[in-house]
Amino acid sequence: MRAFFKLLFALALAAGLLAVGNRLLEARAGGARPGRESASAVITQTPLQDVLLVNASHPLPEGYTPDDLVELYGEKRSFQLAESDIRLERSAFEAANRMFRQAKKDGVDGFILSSGYRTEAEQRALYEADKDGTAAEPGASEHQTGLAFDVTAYSDGGFKDTDQFRWLKAHCWDFGFILRYPEGREDVTGIPYEPWHYRYVGETIAAAIHENGWTLEEYCERSGG
Ligand SMILES: [Zn+2]
Repeated sequence: MRAFFKLLFALALAAGLLAVGNRLLEARAGGARPGRESASAVITQTPLQDVLLVNASHPLPEGYTPDDLVELYGEKRSFQLAESDIRLERSAFEAANRMFRQAKKDGVDGFILSSGYRTEAEQRALYEADKDGTAAEPGASEHQTGLAFDVTAYSDGGFKDTDQFRWLKAHCWDFGFILRYPEGREDVTGIPYEPWHYRYVGETIAAAIHENGWTLEEYCERSGG
């Protein structure tokens, strides 16, 4: 009988650990959380983890606001800010901090975040002021999730010609970020090459995307989302 209760206890413990593990995975998935089923239109369920896919054909629901935005100016940071009011969702901020700390250890410093979270109203203003048609419509910008940032560095040319870009392109995946709009993939993403825009999706999905040379759209499609 004692053995039976021991077994029961072990099973309960395993189930509890699994539940905790799943929650951790979800917390790292970048935007997908339990209790957000009302917003399920924007969350693609995949075998690895759920992920928030945002593009012109998968807009965010009106009034979408991230849960846990961090005002970066007041935080201890391993990178600089182009403006004092830049915010990111906490998971993305913490991963970015780890990433740029490692870059510094590797001798690559001087990353400057130029844009993070945007409200729907801010995205609308950008869209309406946009003359050359490159700004995303309100709801269709990843910046509204707080999970994406634009980065730059002091240089004579474009960001794609900097050591900072070369480092990010090689290592961002290890920290759960993806180069969201890769070169030559505009037919899939709908967005021209943006070497400066990184999206947090968590390490598992970032690795899958990197290993297979996919975009986030292709990952969601192939994972049966
Ligand atoms: Zn961007």
